[in-house]
Amino acid sequence: MIENTNLRINEKGHLVIGGYDSVELAREFGTPLYVLDEDVIRSNMRMYKNAMDKYYEGKGLVLYASKALCTMALCRIAQQEGLGLDVVSGGELYTAKKAGFPMKKVYFHGNNKSAKELSEALDAGIGRIVVDNIHELVTLNDLCRQKGKIARISVRVKPGIDAHTHDFVRTGQIDSKFGVALENGEIYEFASMAKNFENIELVGVHCHIGSQIFDLEPFEETARVMLGMIAELKDRFGINISELNLGGGFGIKYTSEDDPIEYDRYVESVSKVVKEACKEYGIEQPFMLMEPGRSIVAPAGITLYTVGAVKEIKGIRKYVSIDGGMYDNPRYALYKSKYTFLVANRADAPITQEVTVAGKCCESGDLLGENVPLQDVKPGDILAVLATGAYNYSMSMNYNRNGRPPVVLVKNGKARIIVKGEDYEDIVRNDLIPEDL
Ligand SMILES: *Cc1c(COP(=O)(O)O)cnc(C)c1O
Repeated sequence: MIENTNLRINEKGHLVIGGYDSVELAREFGTPLYVLDEDVIRSNMRMYKNAMDKYYEGKGLVLYASKALCTMALCRIAQQEGLGLDVVSGGELYTAKKAGFPMKKVYFHGNNKSAKELSEALDAGIGRIVVDNIHELVTLNDLCRQKGKIARISVRVKPGIDAHTHDFVRTGQIDSKFGVALENGEIYEFASMAKNFENIELVGVHCHIGSQIFDLEPFEETARVMLGMIAELKDRFGINISELNLGGGFGIKYTSEDDPIEYDRYVESVSKVVKEACKEYGIEQPFMLMEPGRSIVAPAGITLYTVGAVKEIKGIRKYVSIDGGMYDNPRYALYKSKYTFLVANRADAPITQEVTVAGKCCESGDLLGENVPLQDVKPGDILAVLATGAYNYSMSMNYNRNGRPPVVLVKNGKARIIVKGEDYEDIVRNDLIPEDL
């Protein structure tokens, strides 16, 4: 069905996730509903951690890129599995803090952190701020001076690697809003400034070349380039970089067209490249960090919807309308992302047709898939969309004043709500009618 999941089909022909009949889940919690399989999340986290231990002798830390799915329960799971956390906003940092996540294992990314966010990060005593640009470096140095602190930082670098993925999720090339470039020497300008700042200590370099990448080569090439840069920082400025963060971006299987490799092979091959390059350049092996997000949570999640109107436009297409849409999953509208669809209450029935799955928002572009294979489908059926654990709930919105669906975590046939669904009162919670209106 889809790799790396515990999905199965029971004797009633219903889709089962984490030992729970998905039709029962839909009945009990309503639809739309995000469902996450706890065992899949944990085993993916463990797999990365074990690979880091095995191939890099444990001299590293796997950070869960929380933007893929950031909730307090997810922070707790990452903590229990011994992972660190990558956050990209004050809101994600607050979530981690509120969940009791150890702040020393939090890394703060983002291309335009505000002074307020930087200040919060310093006050929380997080592990590293990954500084994106010179403006941020100056702001941070000023803040540290005011607070009487020294920030040990990492810097986001564009290593000049073109990962072959969607334009919107490529981030390693020079024309990207993220980080300072290597090709034009911007990184060296950054480093010499950082060296002269009294309240800054540059100890790490970071890169993240994009997302949903299937090849090993871009990651290996990136590691080589980054090590060369570390050697140059040492030669030119006497800066000792002791941390190398290679980001995330490992591709997952959304449909049968996707063919990801075993994730521990990334860790294995990159570890090898790092060790070799360190020998070649005569530098000490850095502490290594990786930041998988999507590959940890996407395969663990499905979304359940109830089918409403089915409109067949003869000779053109068949629209299958669902009770959710771009407000709970904007990825098709954003990137034309492909998904696998299944009628959950007849999961074992044969595929008979191609349909277009339409959401309920007032946008023609509110679709979850076009011309996707599906079983016979009728109003009242439960439609499951697979591999929605990443960048669905975290990207959801209230367009058309739709409430975000709840998130349930299932394990061994038990389901617990980890994010409550939003009702009408939640929708108007921040609305005010001024007295003089
Ligand atoms: C988005 C992001 C990640 C995670 O990417 P995935 O494709 O979800 O693995 C890791 N690091 C940084 C800096 C990111 O921006």
